[in-house]
Amino acid sequence: MTGWVGVGRTHRGFVRPVNQDAFAVLDDLGVWMVADGLGGKPGGEIASQLAIDSLVKQAESHRRLLHDSRDYVPTLLSQFLMTAHHLLLDKGATVRQLKGLGTTIVVLCIVPESVSTAAVAHVGDSRAYLWREGALTRLTRDHTFGERYVEAGILTPEQARVHPDSHVLTRALGFGETLEPECSTFTLLRDDCILLCTDGLSKMLSDEEIAAILGSSGTSSRACDALVEAALERGGIDNVTVVVCGPAPTSPEIIQTNRH
Ligand code: CA
Repeated sequence: MTGWVGVGRTHRGFVRPVNQDAFAVLDDLGVWMVADGLGGKPGGEIASQLAIDSLVKQAESHRRLLHDSRDYVPTLLSQFLMTAHHLLLDKGATVRQLKGLGTTIVVLCIVPESVSTAAVAHVGDSRAYLWREGALTRLTRDHTFGERYVEAGILTPEQARVHPDSHVLTRALGFGETLEPECSTFTLLRDDCILLCTDGLSKMLSDEEIAAILGSSGTSSRACDALVEAALERGGIDNVTVVVCGPAPTSPEIIQTNRH
């Protein structure tokens, strides 16, 4: 155990016929992730689940490196994503119904030491946020045209929000021959929480609304329920998935964990 535990929730929403999101909570490995499949049936849901299964398998077979080699973890996570990327490319090339399948993904790894270090790697617009001392900070930048236009100064964030190409992805697992995963590391404080989510949450709620829910929920479990509930109240137009990861409770509270 790493001393950090995650809770995950996913919901199909009220409009999409299937849930193309997937997630995994691996407390014993210190690894948590969410993915959002792309494309029509059945590619989307298969892509996200294949990617999650691939990363779970790789994390399990690199357990020792994940725990003992803090400086190597970002490279390792990028390698995991590259392997999943090539798996999706191979499936798309060999199975006609799976042609063009892809997925976004964000993965968090915490290396337990006297001072815990976290690494976050992602591709696409699934996000990681840090909740620290009552403030919410986004740890990932979306790999979308919207984010690119804002970074280039072409659009303001407000203009990007309503631009028709705003949510078009510039990177995803399974798309294109090359892949550039983005990875960052940071030091965790004792009471930090990290939220991973698909765009079914971040499109529905502002960062301020997410922060308000995290600030008032009390436990990771309640935070997950409240975040999903809030996204559904906005119409549930997309699948929504959240994982909230925080320090293991010292109280007898049992936090439910899931592996999907
Ligand atoms: Ca989505």
